[in-house]
Amino acid sequence: MFFQSRFDCQGSPARVVFGPSSRLRVGEELVRLGLERVLVIATPELEGVAGEIAGALGPRAAGLFVGAAMHTPVSVTEARMARLGDADGLVAVGGGSAIGLAKALALRSGLPQIAVPSTFAGSEATPILGETKGGEKTTLTDLRVRPDTIVYDPLLVSSLPPRLVASSAMNAIAHAVEGLYARDRNPVGSLMAAEGIRAFAAAVPRVDADRADLEAWSMAQYGAWLCGTVLGQVGMALHHKLCHVLGGTFDLPHAEVHAVVLPHAIAYNEAAVPELLAPVARIFGAETAADGLHEFARAIGAPTALEAFGFTEADIPRAVDVALARPYWNPRAITREGLSVLLSGALTGERPARAMFNEDTETVK
Ligand code: NAD
Repeated sequence: MFFQSRFDCQGSPARVVFGPSSRLRVGEELVRLGLERVLVIATPELEGVAGEIAGALGPRAAGLFVGAAMHTPVSVTEARMARLGDADGLVAVGGGSAIGLAKALALRSGLPQIAVPSTFAGSEATPILGETKGGEKTTLTDLRVRPDTIVYDPLLVSSLPPRLVASSAMNAIAHAVEGLYARDRNPVGSLMAAEGIRAFAAAVPRVDADRADLEAWSMAQYGAWLCGTVLGQVGMALHHKLCHVLGGTFDLPHAEVHAVVLPHAIAYNEAAVPELLAPVARIFGAETAADGLHEFARAIGAPTALEAFGFTEADIPRAVDVALARPYWNPRAITREGLSVLLSGALTGERPARAMFNEDTETVK
């Protein structure tokens, strides 16, 4: 049971359209929102499906832009902003990069958005926007950036290459796992978090075994929606902070970094809040949440070592400095030594070093 005797909770009012072929219902959703001229946004890899959606909208598609980029560079947003013309809405087709550009444009223009996600990153369900300028990534939370409608079609995720399926699933699971110990957690958010992890634990091995298993792709999208909703509802902690540093300062790929770091960050925090992470251990049938996540990541072929992305031992002190520069809440006090041990484990992908994390388990309630 996830009962709490006290909590505040802000539900998400976004409309969700879920199911096979739902991408063909984007037109209906334009009518519902009263939109007549929408800009369709994607990354280059999604040009085909974004073009199909734009084509189905006919004259209601004001244009198709396939130049969205990872970490939402402000330069791309500003160039596109200058050419918005008479568009009265935005349709993002793709992962967090396409959705990020639509959010950045919505922030500046006030235009409504429809998100058609193609990864499990979960950005479509949050009022959060991360943008990069001059090599620095900043994040803001603003209700104007939350998409009004989300259209989940399993066909869109079913083209994900296997390695991205694994990384993106771990990225989504990370939102749920950190949601379980969030300072502002609530019982419904925790239910969604556990159910989201359960959905991925069941679905990813199925799509790995049979890429034509549409029900399993849908189940994974169900997980992505739940985990993304948790991300939009409660505050994240050490794991997301570290991934933000590794992505922003070292330009490492987003989903892959989440996949590598998660078991190590959770091993660090599990020493302080084992009871809050017990549902994760149970879902994966492991002794600890960290072990369960480590084994699951290996089983589904997710990357497990930062060194595979060019991060080296010499980078650890700088990463620790940047992570410590701005204090943030975490269920366990963060120390320089602890972070160094954590990143050393993530560097090579060894099993999370439980014994090294068991010394002082100061818990911050
Ligand atoms: P992404 O959107 O950058 O996609 C990764 C790569 O995979 C891209 O090259 C993309 O074109 C390709 N791709 C996407 N879907 C595909 C598919 N179905 N088939 C084949 N190729 C596909 O990656 P992402 O992990 O979805 O998103 C990462 C970005 O989103 C980061 O900038 C991150 O900060 C942001 N993000 C934001 C939030 C939020 O709430 N604001 C949440 C999660 C992620």
